[in-house]
Amino acid sequence: MYFSRLFAPTLREVPGEAEVVSHQLLLRAAMIRRAAAGIYTYLPLGWRVLEKIMRIVREEMDRAGGQELLLPIVQPAELWQATGRWDVYGPEMFRLQDRHGRPFCLGPTHEEIITALVRAEVKSYRQLPLLLYQIQNKYRDERRPRFGLLRGREFIMKDLYSFDRDEEGMRASYARMYEAYSRIFTRLGLAFRIVEADPGAIGGGLSQEFMVTAATGEASVVFCEACGYAADVDQAPCRPQALPREEPKPLEEVATPEVRTVEEVAAYLGVPQWRILKTLFYRADGRLLGIVLRGDRRLNEAKLQRFLGCLSLEMADDAAVAAATGSPPGFVGPVGLEDVVFYADAEVAQVTNAVAGANREDHHLINVNPGRDFPLRLADLRAAEEGDPCPRCGAPLSTAQGIEVGQIFQLGTKYSGALGATYLDEQGRERPIVMGCYGIGISRTMAAAVEQHHDAAGIIWPAPIAPYHAVVIPVNPQEGRQWEVAVQLYRQLGAAGIEVVLDDRPERAGVKFADADLIGFPWRVTVGKKVSTQGVVDVRRRGTPEEVSLAVEATAAFLREQLAAQGIETGSRTHNHDGDSFSCR
Ligand code: ATP
Ligand code: MG
Repeated sequence: MYFSRLFAPTLREVPGEAEVVSHQLLLRAAMIRRAAAGIYTYLPLGWRVLEKIMRIVREEMDRAGGQELLLPIVQPAELWQATGRWDVYGPEMFRLQDRHGRPFCLGPTHEEIITALVRAEVKSYRQLPLLLYQIQNKYRDERRPRFGLLRGREFIMKDLYSFDRDEEGMRASYARMYEAYSRIFTRLGLAFRIVEADPGAIGGGLSQEFMVTAATGEASVVFCEACGYAADVDQAPCRPQALPREEPKPLEEVATPEVRTVEEVAAYLGVPQWRILKTLFYRADGRLLGIVLRGDRRLNEAKLQRFLGCLSLEMADDAAVAAATGSPPGFVGPVGLEDVVFYADAEVAQVTNAVAGANREDHHLINVNPGRDFPLRLADLRAAEEGDPCPRCGAPLSTAQGIEVGQIFQLGTKYSGALGATYLDEQGRERPIVMGCYGIGISRTMAAAVEQHHDAAGIIWPAPIAPYHAVVIPVNPQEGRQWEVAVQLYRQLGAAGIEVVLDDRPERAGVKFADADLIGFPWRVTVGKKVSTQGVVDVRRRGTPEEVSLAVEATAAFLREQLAAQGIETGSRTHNHDGDSFSCR
């Protein structure tokens, strides 16, 4: 491909809309453009990256025994009503009606529709196991679409569904997918961690997530160096930590003028933060409730939602809190509010003579004793943190940030039961099909790769997913010999099956180098003055500072070898219609 013909409108400036580096670089490197919040066009370079990710995913799904199909995006409400998820999905689901007023949705996921398909077509144990997958757009009207492709409202997902005769079969399918996912993310050139996960709205039993490690990741994970335990912070159970106990003293109100936050109260009263009872108010399916935690701990909302089993959960606004407590925020607490149900994190039971808001402006209570001064309803609600004891072995946990690129679930009979998907076993008995489901965020994976692999100049694509393998840059295309050799190299590389762009633009060399770094071609071949004097060109691998000088004739073989070392087989070339050599992808 000649650069002058490539539809790659790169940007010098960082677009104001983009907060995280992958979003900035994908826009600047002409991979994507925004159409609406969380909805993107994939430009030719970006689409090539996605195609390569999808190709690797397909190869591994097929290797594991999967068969590809394509399910509809527009799905009838009835199926979702049958499993109860028409309500569970709430405002995240894009809903629409046809001209007859019949309700539909745009698929946020496809368990319902595929289970209905299998219910209709699978009758006998002889047809099982079955692994079916698709790669397709998903629609989720996320509360906060942001970070470009990391959290979109329309995004590309690979989803596979496994159908087995029994639990043992499901576990075998799950193990195959675990293995396939590990191979996929390794082949994509990404560093990742596999962690225990919260099944969330998908439901079922065991679930694990594949997290690409990146400091900017939205997901928090905890892991144990000692025993290998690793979990999403939404899933990791916390053991209550014991605290020194005191003889309970009588409850007392003290003035705390303008002293609101845990830090301020601790400093003002001279007590450790853990002795303060932090009180939060939430609405769960519309109902107001209070949460009490140690002042130095953070609530984990996923744990709270799981514990309550509610469909919607959001923080209550200040007006609702004031109406329930008679106090502005900063001075609220669980004592004396008989009308509000409070749940406390398990550790709250350990705190004696605590401090809490008095539900009166500028006042706190001291010597609050949970159980004595307010009823204790305990649950594990706090987020695990660095240094907490590992739930498996007790060694101190470490924490890291990550980007969830894939999740696998053992569903059991959750969907087959609700939709009546059964088969007849060898004895002719009717049994429910046992299922699993397995997702990979294809478009999110592209952004995760950029989060993990970039520098100040641009993207450093792992070679297996780079839009092209190499760019050839004639420093001065007006100089006859440089242009000649550049075209000759472009042809030779193309003939060797290397995907190559020739930067033929009448731009300064600096502009071409900057674009090459921004787009992130793994290899850059510079044809400059030395080609006339010494017959050599300069070859540089993106992300490394050193250039090697190579004889023109040796360049194609060198690059083929380098690419082969990164697991890329360069096939034979084909020609595109205008006669430019163009390798087969
Ligand atoms: P998250 O917790 O990040 O919202 P999820 O757990 O709801 O994701 P799944 O239902 O497990 O997502 O979907 C499978 C995969 O699809 C995820 O692992 C992720 O890679 C991808 N994915 C989910 N939501 C989005 C989104 N809004 N934008 C891009 N990719 C997404
Ligand atoms: Mg998930």
